Amino acid sequence: MSELILFWHRRDLRIADNVGLAEGRSRSAKVIGVFCLDPGILQRDDVAPVRVAYLLGCLQDLQTRYAKAGSQLLILHDDPVKALPRLANALGAQAVYWNCDVEPYGQERDRQVAAALKEAGVEYQAFWDQLLHDPKSILSGSGTPYTVYTPFWKNWSSKPKAEPVADLQNAEGLTDSEKDAATKAGAIALPKLKDLGLVWDGGFILEPGEAAAQERLTEFCDRAMTDYQAQRNLPYEDGTSRLSAALKFGAIGIRTVWAATQTAQEQTRSDEAQEGIRVWRQELAWREFYQHVLYHFPELADGPYREPFKAFPWENNEKHFQAWCEGRTGYPIVDAAMRQLNETGWMHNRCRMIVASFLTKDLIIDWRWGEKYFMQRLVDGDLAANNGGWQWSASSGMDPKPLRIFNPASQAQKFDPEAEYIREWLPELRGLETAQLVTGIIDAGDRRSCNYPAPIVDHKKRQALFKQRYADAKGNKQG
Ligand SMILES: Cc1cc2nc3c(=O)[nH]c(=O)nc-3n(C[C@H](O)[C@H](O)[C@H](O)COP(=O)(O)OP(=O)(O)OC[C@H]3O[C@@H](n4cnc5c(N)ncnc54)[C@H](O)[C@@H]3O)c2cc1C
Repeated sequence: MSELILFWHRRDLRIADNVGLAEGRSRSAKVIGVFCLDPGILQRDDVAPVRVAYLLGCLQDLQTRYAKAGSQLLILHDDPVKALPRLANALGAQAVYWNCDVEPYGQERDRQVAAALKEAGVEYQAFWDQLLHDPKSILSGSGTPYTVYTPFWKNWSSKPKAEPVADLQNAEGLTDSEKDAATKAGAIALPKLKDLGLVWDGGFILEPGEAAAQERLTEFCDRAMTDYQAQRNLPYEDGTSRLSAALKFGAIGIRTVWAATQTAQEQTRSDEAQEGIRVWRQELAWREFYQHVLYHFPELADGPYREPFKAFPWENNEKHFQAWCEGRTGYPIVDAAMRQLNETGWMHNRCRMIVASFLTKDLIIDWRWGEKYFMQRLVDGDLAANNGGWQWSASSGMDPKPLRIFNPASQAQKFDPEAEYIREWLPELRGLETAQLVTGIIDAGDRRSCNYPAPIVDHKKRQALFKQRYADAKGNKQG
């Protein structure tokens, strides 16, 4: 009789190119998948309905894939520390396998699950899967973790990358009596979003599941990756991969993504196209950089990295924050971006930088408020990338160029010169002149007739005020 291996899925919702799952399959044909809906995550106040909807869609797809491969994906809805050893015991599992996480919560949870399994006499093994290089393998010459991206990128990009691993195939599923035992140990049918008390009817920018992610990757490689350098900053273009949620939940394997960049590189001769591929690879490296720094500096999750921001005099005006959240600041490019987020659960990267700069440097609101709001709305909301993006924008993080302040009008003029993006997301302003939309210079009468608010702050004055506060804070603190 084959050994029974449970493979615990978390942010690796696929059967293709999954390191831990492939290891499980190479040990035994009887690999059973399990996903645990963790109340410790689902009941947090930064959970986004769109993200849970995407997750459930991926799980549904994964169940179908397991069935095709000959096995099952079981669903639990409980604390994994209790639920996994209970299921493993009920099934007489020899081992539980999973892939490692970098987040502080995930690491602590895994330690506790490992201890509980040990106590229950069940073997466990963890593998690195979600990164091309695990956090301990990319260190500076003196053996310390990088805190600056450029040297990290040089080292990271110089290392050979692993090939995709084998898909799950010809697996063996549970017998009927084992299925009964799994049900008694807590296995349930996959719930609907409303069963979890959440509602999302805004659709997805990319459908959940492995097939959609793979198709999008192929399409992006064929169509847009080679133009990425030119298109990636234009929010009205479909010029980026939109794979962020698929990468966050592991609907696609990172080795598969890298292999696609290699194929694209081999198939193209133009310098411009090669540059597009190189720049896109740099984005994949940003993703890894932020995961590495979170792994090495878990305190980043709780607050600023740089000294001047540890007791920064944020203004934290609730009304300003509300206007920012709703896309009613009176700055068209900021408001368009926030409406895109609220309506679709996704925002273009250029716009994430603009609205984050506006919240922190113009409204002088603590970046952690924005970080949390993003987590409550983003389909790709991910602690490492979101915290990294916010700390970069606030100037509080690991960045050698501290005082970056975006001027909303210059950003719109440069990256949305025909106001296509602004018009898409602010229908009430569609009738105005392009120059009014990109500069934000709209007279009171036009604002009134469009039911569009006056600017809630004056960019120039606020920029000066922020700089003053920063200089004062820096005077008090080194860093
Ligand atoms: C304030 C702020 C908050 C952000 N929050 C998140 C978040 O919660 N989750 C998230 O995945 N990304 C976040 N980002 C990074 C970036 O905006 C998104 O990854 C990107 O917009 C997703 O679109 P895409 O898949 O089309 O990206 P592409 O341009 O196609 O890039 C490919 C992949 O690289 C990764 N990537 C790209 N840029 C970055 C970056 N700056 N940092 C980390 N990874 C990156 C993503 O996995 C992305 O899917 C944030 C950026 C900022 C400025």
